[in-house]
Amino acid sequence: MKHNFGAGPCILPKEVFQEASQAVLDFNNTGLSILEISHRSKEFEEVVVETERLVRELLNVPQNYSVLFLQGGASQQFAMVPLNLLPEGGKAAYFDTGVWATKAAKEAKKIGQVEIVASSSDKNYNYIPKGFEIPADSAYFHYTSNNTIYGTEVFEKPTTSVPTVVDMSSDILSRVIDITDYDLIYAGAQKNMGPAGVTLVIIKDEILGRSGRSLPSILDYEPHIKAGSMYNTPPVYSIYVSMLNLRWLKAKGGISVIEQENIVKARTLYDEIERNPFFKGTAAVEDRSRMNVTFVMENSDLEAEFLALSKERNLIGIKGHRSVGGFRASIYNALSITSINALVDAMREFEEKHK
Ligand SMILES: *Cc1c(COP(=O)(O)O)cnc(C)c1O
Repeated sequence: MKHNFGAGPCILPKEVFQEASQAVLDFNNTGLSILEISHRSKEFEEVVVETERLVRELLNVPQNYSVLFLQGGASQQFAMVPLNLLPEGGKAAYFDTGVWATKAAKEAKKIGQVEIVASSSDKNYNYIPKGFEIPADSAYFHYTSNNTIYGTEVFEKPTTSVPTVVDMSSDILSRVIDITDYDLIYAGAQKNMGPAGVTLVIIKDEILGRSGRSLPSILDYEPHIKAGSMYNTPPVYSIYVSMLNLRWLKAKGGISVIEQENIVKARTLYDEIERNPFFKGTAAVEDRSRMNVTFVMENSDLEAEFLALSKERNLIGIKGHRSVGGFRASIYNALSITSINALVDAMREFEEKHK
């Protein structure tokens, strides 16, 4: 068995892969592949409706929010957010907690004025700044809830009276949130929700139409909302597989159940990092992510050897991002405690061998 700690595209449950592969051959006994059916067919319409229903149910999304399945990844949202929410001459507030947050701000700067309200770039983004001001005249405040590369997570939404936009690509569906705290949430599916190719957007309807800009339709939220995510051909297969994964999550008991599992998984791994004298965590303890666990070795000369051992033990994708180095274990919803234990065992084995 391979233990996939990859940061994205991510591990999905085995039963999801099985059902998804069956649908490639024969989708719901239609005699057609999911890859060839019309996106306007009744069968696929049911898929979109159920996927939206599952998102609404699992995340408790109120009726005054729209749920969209778009393409272009989180990166397209970096541009769509300011295009749709930032008026000519207006200003947006951005929270700089890592590469993705920086990229989002960079795109917004092409559209209008951006104020960086706080940054942790002074310490290579290993913590979440606190106690900063968000100017009340900002059109919106943008932040990244989980910093996939650095292994930090914002557990408490910064307080502000301005509309709040969050990139939840790597922690969506991993813990209970209150949707009404936010005005726009987006997430590339491939970190915790499904395969690459679809982006979830949850948007409070009343914040639309405020930028006063005339936008190309494909970059405007409203045509997508009016068409029920069918303004153009949607990513049929990615939506279908996401639906299967959402069904799996619901059958498990929903987000409050998976959150408890995620807490135990993260604690098990962080405890070993703290206990084992060969390893150390890189993120500030109070801001440590439950989805991406970043760590290095006390003696970096030994990292190649630990990586080789990991490979022998079928631990896949634990090499850290080049901007942090060391290791990163992404422990998304579908990764079981068995895989965490396999990694912990490898760390202990390494310790035994070297002490
Ligand atoms: C991976 C990632 C992105 C980029 O997502 P794409 O779908 O590839 O555009 C953006 N934000 C966060 C937090 C990510 O983890």
